[in-house]
Amino acid sequence: MFQPWKIRRYSINQGRHINSGRSGSHKQDKNKMTISLVTDYEHGISAIDAQFHRPRRAAIHLIVENGKMALVDTGTSSSIAGVINAIEEKNLSAEDVAYIILTHIHLDHAGGASECMRRFPNARLVVHPRGARHMADPEKLVAGAIAVYGKAEFERVYGEIHPIDKQRIIEAPDQSRIELNGRTLLFIDTPGHARHHNCIYDEQSNAFFTGDTFGVSYREFDVNGMEFVFPTTTPIQFDPSAAHTSLDRIMGFNPKYAFVTHYGRIGHLHRHAEAMHTLIDAHVKIARSAKTGMHSNRGRFETISSALQSLLLQCIREHGCRLPETEIIALISSDIKLNTQGLEHWLDQVDQIRA
Ligand SMILES: [Zn+2]
Repeated sequence: MFQPWKIRRYSINQGRHINSGRSGSHKQDKNKMTISLVTDYEHGISAIDAQFHRPRRAAIHLIVENGKMALVDTGTSSSIAGVINAIEEKNLSAEDVAYIILTHIHLDHAGGASECMRRFPNARLVVHPRGARHMADPEKLVAGAIAVYGKAEFERVYGEIHPIDKQRIIEAPDQSRIELNGRTLLFIDTPGHARHHNCIYDEQSNAFFTGDTFGVSYREFDVNGMEFVFPTTTPIQFDPSAAHTSLDRIMGFNPKYAFVTHYGRIGHLHRHAEAMHTLIDAHVKIARSAKTGMHSNRGRFETISSALQSLLLQCIREHGCRLPETEIIALISSDIKLNTQGLEHWLDQVDQIRA
């Protein structure tokens, strides 16, 4: 199985936490050859680096309440050894993981779920009703990912994904709640990025775990404590009007923070919600104009992706980021590709509905 931390050494600088979180630890156990990258926040919440493609690309959030734990999202199966390391560093044990919560079942969030169920014997998986059957029977999910990435790349990145015992799966419809040692976590159905997406409200911290619904926000773009956030329109269920509605539902709680899977805690949510609304509209506008400006789909991908790149570069510059352009592009290039693919799929669907 591919274990990125065995071959990819992160420098201390890459792992350092720039401005978020009360404290951060970066420990390297030479015997185990594992690296734990953990950012601790208030209210027993931590972000554990899933070590997905690069440092601080995807987080697994840990919630600890009086010795019991819930994980929000799982990274891939290769990420779980790092989670166990982080739990041990907190003097907790695998038996104390009560819930594995999935915001949605895209594999950078859910790819490690079956490995979690194997390693955390008392855990139950909590997932949107639309995602539950794919966790019990992942055949379609795996086939879909192989269609996108190819078999070799799929196996390299995601490793093995096994069916999860139905008895251990809890379906979490809109407004459902679970209790973690008396701490209530409320599930809100938030389509827009995906129809199988929940956001999880934690009353204790007045924060949401937003998966991909509140966009992505890489810590490398932080400027003087202000984050930069942009939407993810990944195939195949991007729905702009649902995305707007879901953002409004989240903001209806007036949360102080969002924990985004990509990556960690962000504040200033009113400002970011406005930016997200604007950028979702801008994505749709780019897709629509690429369609009307063209007589065939040839070149459509290039047209959309280069327009998205210009848009995001401009926004990141206006935000105050001084990183070299090549570095910015390297950080967002795979998101641009996925956003373009998602917008193309959305355009084709809109066509089908009209036809
Ligand atoms: Zn996703």
